[in-house]
Amino acid sequence: MGSILQSQCKCGYESYDLYLGGGMMNFHTHCEISCYCDECEIVFSKNILTKEAKQSEGRIRCVKCRKKVPYYGKIVNDDYNKDYHMEWHIGDKSYYLKGDNQHCPKCKKDTLQIYPVGNFD
Ligand SMILES: [Zn+2]
Ligand SMILES: [Zn+2]
Repeated sequence: MGSILQSQCKCGYESYDLYLGGGMMNFHTHCEISCYCDECEIVFSKNILTKEAKQSEGRIRCVKCRKKVPYYGKIVNDDYNKDYHMEWHIGDKSYYLKGDNQHCPKCKKDTLQIYPVGNFD
């Protein structure tokens, strides 16, 4: 079961629904994490278990301009850290996402909040 997330910034920026993780049937091939593009000024989520994402060493391409963009959170080998608010297991690694003080692609400040609004499966 994955989570549905939303992001919102103090400047007024609000994203569409974002996804974290994958569904029950496709979690081996599908894991969405949240990314942002400063140029297009958008936050979006993308599957990082595609061939394309693996070939570009985890760098993700913007859904709009196709440039390589950074993602929120961290993919790590080590254990749970309570500073992170959300987590998802990817094979033997873990993805952690902290919900507050994230980079906003619109105002470029670290005042974006990412928070769960529901689940999908
Ligand atoms: Zn872009
Ligand atoms: Zn902002």
